[in-house]
Amino acid sequence: MGQIEHQPPGGRHDICVEFNNVDKWFGAVQVLHGINLTVGKGEKVVVCGPSGSGKSTMIRCINHLERHQKGRITVNGIELTENKRSIDRVRQDVGMVFQNFNLYPHLTVLENCTLAPRWVKGVSRKDAEALALRYLERVRIPDKAHFYPSQLSGGQQQRAAIARSLCMNPKIMLFDEPTSALDPELVREVLDTMAQLANDGMTMVCVTHEMGFARQVADRVIFMDAGRIVETAPPDEFFSHPRESRTRAFLSQIL
Ligand code: ADP
Ligand code: MG
Repeated sequence: MGQIEHQPPGGRHDICVEFNNVDKWFGAVQVLHGINLTVGKGEKVVVCGPSGSGKSTMIRCINHLERHQKGRITVNGIELTENKRSIDRVRQDVGMVFQNFNLYPHLTVLENCTLAPRWVKGVSRKDAEALALRYLERVRIPDKAHFYPSQLSGGQQQRAAIARSLCMNPKIMLFDEPTSALDPELVREVLDTMAQLANDGMTMVCVTHEMGFARQVADRVIFMDAGRIVETAPPDEFFSHPRESRTRAFLSQIL
C-alpha cells in the first residue's frame, strides 16, 4: 500500500497519539484494519475519505468512545486498556468536537462550559466562569455566555462547543466533521477558530473534507478507505501528487 509511517522529530516524548496495528470490529464486521498512526505533539493531522471508511471510528478510539480489539493505542504515554483509570486519565487530556455540537440544551453557554471543570476537576464556580469567559472571548462569543444553545446560530454553537472543550485544558483536540452540519455561510467562522487554535500550538486531529483548511493548517493529510489508511502525506504533496488511485478518485469527486 506504500504507506510511510511518520515519526515526529525528537523521539518518543514528542508523541501524543500512537496506533500500532489496530483492528476494530463491530460485531462480525471489521471496520479498522491494521491502523498505524503517530501524531506528534503540536502536530495537525487532517483525516479524509469516503463515508463509511472508518474515520469517525478511528478518532473515537483515541478517547475510547470506541473500543479496539487488537493492537495498541497510546495517548500521551498512557496505553488504552480496559482499565477504567487509564481511560479516565486519557479522556482528561482529549477534547472532542462533533458534527452536531452536542451542547446541553437546558444549560446556558456559560453553564455548558463550566460543568466539567466544576464537577470533574473540582474548580470553583468563580474560577470556572472566569476561565469559560476567557475561552468564549477567544472564540469570539463572550456576549453569548448567558444564552441557551437554541438561541445561537450553528456556527456560534460550534464555537461554544470548542470553548467548552478548551475549558478542560486538553492536550489534543479531535474534530469529527465539525462544519458538515453548518449552513455554508457559517463554515468559515468555525474553520477560522480551528485555524487560530492550530496557530496557538494545539495538537489536532480533524476529520474534515474542507480541503482549503487542510492546505492551510495541516502538517499531514491522511486518506482512509475501507477501514485502512491508504495514503498519508504533507498537504502540498497530497493534493498535487496523490500516489494512490483511490486517493485520486476521491479528490476528483470533492475538489
Ligand atoms: P466514517 O466516519 O468514515 O463515515 P465510520 O467510522 O462512521 O465511517 O464507520 C465505519 C464503518 O463502521 C461503517 O461501515 C459503519 O457502518 C460502521 N459502524 C460505525 N459505527 C457503528 C456501530 N456503532 N455499530 C455497527 N457498525 C458501525
Ligand atoms: Mg464519520
